[in-house]
Amino acid sequence: MPTKYDVAVIGGGAVGLCAAYYLQKSGKSVVVVDKSVPGTADQSSYANAGYVAPSHIIPLASPGIVSKGLRWMMNPDSPFYIHPRLEWQLVKWMWTFWRSANPKTVERAIPILAALCNESARQYDVLANDQNIGEFGLEKRGLLMLYNTEKAFQADHKVAETAIKAGVPTKLLSPQEIQETEPAYETPAVGAIYYTDDWHISPSAFCGQLFSALQKSGVDFHPQNKTLKFDRENGKIRAMHIDSGEIRAQEFVLAAGSWTTEIAKTLGLTLAIQAGKGYSVTVQSSQSSAKVPAILTERKVAVTPYGDKIRFAGTLEFNGLNMEINQRRVRAILSAVSQYLPNFDLSEAYQTQAWAGLRPCTPDGMPLVGRTKRFSNLTLAAGHAMVGITLAPVTGKLVNEIINGEKPCVETELLQPDRF
Ligand SMILES: Cc1cc2nc3c(=O)[nH]c(=O)nc-3n(C[C@H](O)[C@H](O)[C@H](O)COP(=O)(O)OP(=O)(O)OC[C@H]3O[C@@H](n4cnc5c(N)ncnc54)[C@H](O)[C@@H]3O)c2cc1C
Repeated sequence: MPTKYDVAVIGGGAVGLCAAYYLQKSGKSVVVVDKSVPGTADQSSYANAGYVAPSHIIPLASPGIVSKGLRWMMNPDSPFYIHPRLEWQLVKWMWTFWRSANPKTVERAIPILAALCNESARQYDVLANDQNIGEFGLEKRGLLMLYNTEKAFQADHKVAETAIKAGVPTKLLSPQEIQETEPAYETPAVGAIYYTDDWHISPSAFCGQLFSALQKSGVDFHPQNKTLKFDRENGKIRAMHIDSGEIRAQEFVLAAGSWTTEIAKTLGLTLAIQAGKGYSVTVQSSQSSAKVPAILTERKVAVTPYGDKIRFAGTLEFNGLNMEINQRRVRAILSAVSQYLPNFDLSEAYQTQAWAGLRPCTPDGMPLVGRTKRFSNLTLAAGHAMVGITLAPVTGKLVNEIINGEKPCVETELLQPDRF
């Protein structure tokens, strides 16, 4: 173990691991510290829906979402919930979210998100072809957005148009075409938007494989080690203290997902990330022939087939950094599956322990990627909300470019960590 590394990465989720990958490839000595073990259930990167979705180019903070959110808040079975609490950071976050949900901000964000998604998809191909990284279940089957009501389907034609304009391959499907695309879905859906170039992966396999490949290639890891505090000197971080000692590095990368805010606080930085909890249930599939992932659009539930297994995921709950599982909302996810896919036998799903993960959400729906003004050797890579798996590779690549002083592969102005 070197006494001083080129780069220390805090957080070994999909984002931190990808940063370590590109940094190590560029010849840096790298150490990754995580309070848990990379590739395990404590991370948001573990049992999420696994979509690598270049179609997700509209940020969460978009026109109409606030009124929809307020309606959902009243319903305990809805896909969205904010636990009421008097916390200044949450109030400020909601205010900024409300201000960001306007056409102008969204229009500026779309081309950047599209460029990030496209570059990330390209990088997934690079990672899948890296002989040192084992199989992580990359499947190129597209993504079906299923609609149960004509009203929602018609309303989302606009979303499809925006996607087409941004260069996302998109098709509108009739009920018969849905059946032809995925015969395993016997659905009463009135139509679908089919994003043909979306992919999916096994996120736990991705993190697990990257973790072991990085260990083999010489990246040092300190799992089960919490970052506690930092030593600073002249606008730079000199060292960080973790449970098992001190780590020195030239550069520090903060990639701790929803926990990034509390770590940043120890450096006197205030960041706008709120944890958006979601759940998933993964079961053996009696419908094992399903291959194409689907979103049950009105209920915001994701269905991801994994060979002989299938995963149902959903819900966005703002309730701080807590991983408690609200069974009522898990049951609401499964009831949405019965509604859209009545041929699915969910008896096992109702008996299965759900997994919870915390999406790191920023109020304008754009991640925080870049250097901070206060510390010249600190790079932020967090706040990817619902697209952290999609954007992990491009984020890792950007972190490496920023640290090496290279021109970033995607314009990063809208991603500046100090923008709020
Ligand atoms: C239900 C659900 C479904 C989702 N589906 C998708 C999807 O289909 N596609 C998609 O692109 N995204 C999806 N997401 C979002 C995606 O999971 C996240 O955006 C992504 O995993 C964030 O990755 P990360 O590396 O930033 O954070 P994490 O994976 O949470 O990693 C952060 C790491 O930091 C570590 N850490 C925290 N505090 C400390 C500390 N003090 N010291 C050291 N280490 C620390 C943690 O242990 C953790 O390992 C989904 C999320 C959920 C919850």
